[in-house]
Amino acid sequence: MRNSTLKVQNSLTRNKEVFKPINEGYIGMYVCGPTVYNDVHLGNCRTFVSFDIIYRYLLFLGYKVRYVRNITDVGHLLDDGEDRILKGARLEQLEPMEIVQKYTNGFHNMMAIFNTKKPSIEPRATGHIIEQIEMVQEIINNGYGYEKNGSVYFDTVKFATDGKGYGKLSGRVIEELLSETRDNLKNQSEKNHPSDFAIWMKAAPEHIMKWNSPWSVGFPGWHLECSAMSTKYLGKTFDIHGGGNDLKFPHHENEIAQNMGACNCQPANYWLHTNMLLMNGKKMSKSDGNTISPEELFSGDSPHVTKGFSPMAVKFFFLQSHYSSPNDLTNDALLAAEKGYKRLMQAHKTLQSLNTKSIGNSLDAEFNEIIETALADMDDDFNTPRALSRLFELVTKINSLKEGHIDINQLSQEALDHLKKYFDAFLFDIFGLLDEQEASGGNSDALSGLMDLIIDLRQGARTNKDWTTADKIRDKLKELNIEVKDGKDETGWTIN
Ligand code: AMP
Ligand code: ZN
Repeated sequence: MRNSTLKVQNSLTRNKEVFKPINEGYIGMYVCGPTVYNDVHLGNCRTFVSFDIIYRYLLFLGYKVRYVRNITDVGHLLDDGEDRILKGARLEQLEPMEIVQKYTNGFHNMMAIFNTKKPSIEPRATGHIIEQIEMVQEIINNGYGYEKNGSVYFDTVKFATDGKGYGKLSGRVIEELLSETRDNLKNQSEKNHPSDFAIWMKAAPEHIMKWNSPWSVGFPGWHLECSAMSTKYLGKTFDIHGGGNDLKFPHHENEIAQNMGACNCQPANYWLHTNMLLMNGKKMSKSDGNTISPEELFSGDSPHVTKGFSPMAVKFFFLQSHYSSPNDLTNDALLAAEKGYKRLMQAHKTLQSLNTKSIGNSLDAEFNEIIETALADMDDDFNTPRALSRLFELVTKINSLKEGHIDINQLSQEALDHLKKYFDAFLFDIFGLLDEQEASGGNSDALSGLMDLIIDLRQGARTNKDWTTADKIRDKLKELNIEVKDGKDETGWTIN
């Protein structure tokens, strides 16, 4: 184990706290996974990449981590009450489980493209109906659940008046909810109080995904799956629970209530929340066109970007802001991230080629200190932007060593080895970056140079109205699986 003092910003206490695992050397971490009813979007990617880096850093520190990230495949309802999966199935005319499989596969592919590590366990809600029914029963037995017409609701009022702290995580005050007049509630729903929430729902006869239970043929409430699956795989109380901050209320608040209601224990000691990905300063939203899919970002096929950006350039862009700060995606920020990523990879190659005669060691302390500071930044609530800035201090120094502006022979062999080891550990183990140039056979710069030349020649032919040549170039490229796209202002290309 690395000797370090890890601190994390705990949403539950709103304090930055020294992290102490329940069992020395072991960590249990649960992260709410995607609802698999449509393509994973970039905001989701930001959250899952952030938790991947947290996971990677905990592993780097030497912890044995059990990382559980679920797949939500039932119970997550839309505002109009329709199950997201069933809506997907209806729209695409597929079986609900075909929808689940299709978008789980898509999600996994995207996680691989971003080079994230697979979780230790990836449980599905539909695979844990028995555990969820058992938990509903425990909640009822403890007096925190009541049945109405085959559905079961969590009694937030009793929970709050028993002093169990409903609203602790999200800062919602139950008294405010309680002060609403009874009249408002009449005929509103079967719930005794608006803040009560369903933990089991009776299904309408035409509803497809439903199971037998002591109360009705129905399906579990969305919040319940995470309570049941985290308990099953990590125990009643575990170390870290994560998700995007849009899940704090009601999802995480209700998860806490369910766990407390079932066994009177707080599920997680530390709650970590990622902040939202924005685009051009505004929330990404499909309805007003302010959105871009990962694929569009990679290909450049979107009015929001002037060109395509590689997955690692996008990942570098994610790393440049702290996971708990909003992250604003703009074309300029992506261009800068692409440059930064390439500079970092180039420095890695330069560093590999450096050797020292080790005549002195006067540079050792300076280099070691920067490495230690970068690690301290990661210990400080996984501060990737600060750690990155330290790596760029090293990049400047590595380039100076190469150019002879600083004398590499003043670096001991031990310090040079240490530098190589930790520089690489940051790039590849902690940040999980890939050397895309190496992955593409080392010729991507040459390829893009060549393509620029070909596109230029074709552009010249088009300007001269030499359509035969222009089409010949396009068709020949197509045979090579390279697709040319003529945009309004410029021509792009992608390898299919
Ligand atoms: P969902 O599939 O909608 O349940 O979301 C999966 C995860 O992505 C959750 O942790 C969300 O909080 C997170 N998420 C959703 N939208 C964004 C966004 N714009 N930026 C960052 N994370 C997001
Ligand atoms: Zn969850």
